[in-house]
Amino acid sequence: MKKFITLLAFGAISGGLAWSQPTTINAQTTTSTTAKKTLKKKATHHYLLVMGHGAGDPGARGNGTTEATYLRKHLMPQLQKYAKKIKKSNVTIYNPSHNIVRDTMVFHKGSYKIKKNTTVIMFHLDASTSAYAHGGHVIIHKAKPTARDVRLRQVIKSNVGLNPAYNGYSFRTNLRNCNVLRKRGIDYSLIETGFITNKGDFKRINKNLDKIAKGYVEAIANEKIK
Ligand SMILES: [Zn+2]
Repeated sequence: MKKFITLLAFGAISGGLAWSQPTTINAQTTTSTTAKKTLKKKATHHYLLVMGHGAGDPGARGNGTTEATYLRKHLMPQLQKYAKKIKKSNVTIYNPSHNIVRDTMVFHKGSYKIKKNTTVIMFHLDASTSAYAHGGHVIIHKAKPTARDVRLRQVIKSNVGLNPAYNGYSFRTNLRNCNVLRKRGIDYSLIETGFITNKGDFKRINKNLDKIAKGYVEAIANEKIK
């Protein structure tokens, strides 16, 4: 992309200096490049979706899979599909071969390197030694849920069911990676879609995966996908 712009600029300069006829064409090209730049400058908000665990850390285990695998193999492609349809903001996925917690806590990168105006959404699946523990919730970054958290909770409620212990939200300050984000003033939510260790949750997550992913992306970007 950079090379392309450089070539166009060079063309405009050399055209202006050496030839009279191509100048008009080059001028138009320059205008459209400027227009594109202006459009880009209107900086759409960036949402960064992070698949939890990975890079050697499987996370929770249950129903024949792991958190890291399930999120990357099943949820991520669906999220990607809908992220592409978002028009008013930019929704991207954190390198899935990485583990953000390790990047942050071990290498002092990850959450330390995320731009301050980015919103970070982390995806996880819960686990319990009790096979009966069920339902999802949103881990929020302020004592009160944001409008986005309210929307995310609704997606969980209608497709998986809520964890009765939290009624949808939990405000935690003991997650070190999240604390890095909070101290840097970065907006985030962490989603526990349900329990990987619970048969019912796992069944509902699989059955409603498409709806869940669409609902999440719409809730995150606050935009309806047609
Ligand atoms: Zn997890």
